[in-house]
Amino acid sequence: VQPELAGDFGTLMEWADGVRRLKVRANAETPLDAKTAREFGAEGIGLCRTEHMFFDAARITAVRQMILAEDEKGRRAALDKLLPEQRSDFVEIFEVMAGLPVTIRLLDPPLHEFLPHEEAEFAEVAAAAGVEVDYLKRRAAELHEFNPMLGHRGCRLGVTYPEIYEMQARAIFEAAVSLADAPIPEVMIPLVATKRELDLMKAVVDKAAEAVFAETGKRVDYLVGTMIELPRAALRAGEIAEVGEFFSFGTNDLTQTALGVSRDDAARFLQTYVEQGIYAKDPFVSLDVEGVGELIEIAAERGRKTRPDIKLGICGEHGGDPASIAFCEKVGLDYVSASPYRVPIARLAAAQAALAKA
Ligand code: PEP
Ligand code: MG
Repeated sequence: VQPELAGDFGTLMEWADGVRRLKVRANAETPLDAKTAREFGAEGIGLCRTEHMFFDAARITAVRQMILAEDEKGRRAALDKLLPEQRSDFVEIFEVMAGLPVTIRLLDPPLHEFLPHEEAEFAEVAAAAGVEVDYLKRRAAELHEFNPMLGHRGCRLGVTYPEIYEMQARAIFEAAVSLADAPIPEVMIPLVATKRELDLMKAVVDKAAEAVFAETGKRVDYLVGTMIELPRAALRAGEIAEVGEFFSFGTNDLTQTALGVSRDDAARFLQTYVEQGIYAKDPFVSLDVEGVGELIEIAAERGRKTRPDIKLGICGEHGGDPASIAFCEKVGLDYVSASPYRVPIARLAAAQAALAKA
């Protein structure tokens, strides 16, 4: 532990840990972030956003090749290039987290973030895929979306291109069986609205797991669960919990979709809204307890009714906000997940929330 994390600070954190009930995890997708999170006391990873791994300069061309491919064969050619790197991503993170829980969210990019824009980028993808630049430009134009945040992202990508999630699941299980002290992977499906979506995606994950177990002669335990980040998912949590073994509340998207406010454009008017008392605080920073919070309470109650031991957490930005953490304690979530540098605040806030409840 670094010196500044010991001493009085360390003592305070020990006191907090002695009274808090909520577990505190971190949002991390690089080994460095995972190490930082552990030094700050994270008890696992609550959200590993795999799309961030795909932005890596060395693999973005293969990612673009995959997205722009017209058919499964073309996508698989690109995915074969990505598999070894994705496997080592997970090996590194599992090693840092040594046995602690790690929730890996399958790909959830707004698609436009992956499309090439520069001439040189198109040329690189064309060379990698063995196709013409003009063809790729036509494909990119076809893939244009007017509202990518409500578009072809999250599990919608997995439903239309299951081979992407299959590759990621294979990478997760190949990494897990290769390690002596692997965590129990928690495979998380993003942007689920219906039970059927989760059914289909869980089947893809289970099939990849069984294939890896058969090939290697080793097995690991794992969970498959879902983000709850759409109001429909919160309302239908009872049936979604028939499939999902855990829920993680994605309160960034849940706030965006419940309030109908774009998380990327809210800055223009939210300050006035707060000044006018329409919202007490910026709802993307501090949970809108009355609206979004009620959806969380409904989902927790309905999910638990179906599956009493369902694991419940939060991984939106609110997971590091003290007032929101107090709400999570009230609802009885199992853990909060915050960015690494907010883990100590979350530990303290969780302790304060437990004391207040007592
Ligand atoms: C969320 O929506 O709250 C979430 C954690 O996912 P992301 O921010 O990656 O959309
Ligand atoms: Mg989200």
